[in-house]
Amino acid sequence: MHIEAAVLRKINEPLVLEHVDMDKPRGREIVVRTVATGVCHSDLHVIEGISRYPTDRPFVLGHEGAGIVEAVGPDVTYVQVGDHVVACLSGFCGTCPQCLDGHPNVCTNNGEIIARPTADVPRLTQEGGLVRQFGGIGSYAEKMLMHENMVVKIDKDIPFDRAALVGCGVLTGVGAALRSSGLRAGQTVAVFGAGGVGLSIIQGAKIGGARQIIAVDQFDSKLEMAKSVGATHTVNATQDDPVKAVRSLTKGLGVDHAFEAVGLSKLCRMAIESLAVRGTATLVGVLPPEANIEFNWLAIRPECKVQTSRMGSNQFRTDIPNYLEFYRQGKLDLDSMISKRGRLSDINEAFRAMKAGEVARSVLMFD
Ligand SMILES: [Zn+2]
Ligand SMILES: [Zn+2]
Repeated sequence: MHIEAAVLRKINEPLVLEHVDMDKPRGREIVVRTVATGVCHSDLHVIEGISRYPTDRPFVLGHEGAGIVEAVGPDVTYVQVGDHVVACLSGFCGTCPQCLDGHPNVCTNNGEIIARPTADVPRLTQEGGLVRQFGGIGSYAEKMLMHENMVVKIDKDIPFDRAALVGCGVLTGVGAALRSSGLRAGQTVAVFGAGGVGLSIIQGAKIGGARQIIAVDQFDSKLEMAKSVGATHTVNATQDDPVKAVRSLTKGLGVDHAFEAVGLSKLCRMAIESLAVRGTATLVGVLPPEANIEFNWLAIRPECKVQTSRMGSNQFRTDIPNYLEFYRQGKLDLDSMISKRGRLSDINEAFRAMKAGEVARSVLMFD
């Protein structure tokens, strides 16, 4: 079957709307008709050639997708045609040591969940040649062909545009605060970067009972957003030294938890240097593969910890419905996270707005 998709052909070039051939679902694969997709920084990393993904073939990016199951392979048991689902990059095998230990977000055996074995007919092709899918999803397309272990069912009253965000950015941010960091109610928090992920960390920290949440960014518009979703203090990094500002806002102590939400070495260093004694820095942003993080030995307080967080340490089949329940209860603001809506043809404009720091999230709608 033909589908329309936004295809990356060359690094640093605009995506092009093209027809791509999609195979039938085999085994445990499903076809989902895309209704909404968020536009995420990780896609931009691929376009800019600073990701670990190969760009030797045409590439359908996009992974923050939500939609309706349209067809299922013969071995599918989890979903039925008509189910509403959200896709998540954390496809899991369910049988490796990490999955069995309760950490399916770092599954070590999901190669064939993400893509078919290379000897098989590819899921997506153009004139018989392989077209890659970002993370086994490829949501910048009318339809997504993927493994059933890459989706979670959601209630049908949840709007697709809000649901899509929870598949990546919100899951990553809220989970970093509630699952990865070890935050306890009453603690203090600083969040470096107030884009889609940073705003989600702020919301997670608020839900988790943080008593002080300091947002750091270079754009006043993002700091305003940060305040509206739960930041108690803001620091504009172009005006004040963020580390000094965080220390002065915490009576010289530093914060119990600092989060890096962009993927910059400089911000990782600031997060580490902002910690209180026994504080924890949780690095959420994705740095370029060869990046180094350097800090002075004296700058880090006694018994501090530095850790990474992968997709909010999620167990997404339970976390995504839980976070959507927070949304329903008014505890998690997804409505104001969506700065802009557009169509698939607006994809390149969405990346421009992201680079300019104009948006928390753009969402593309297909209906
Ligand atoms: Zn993402
Ligand atoms: Zn696994």
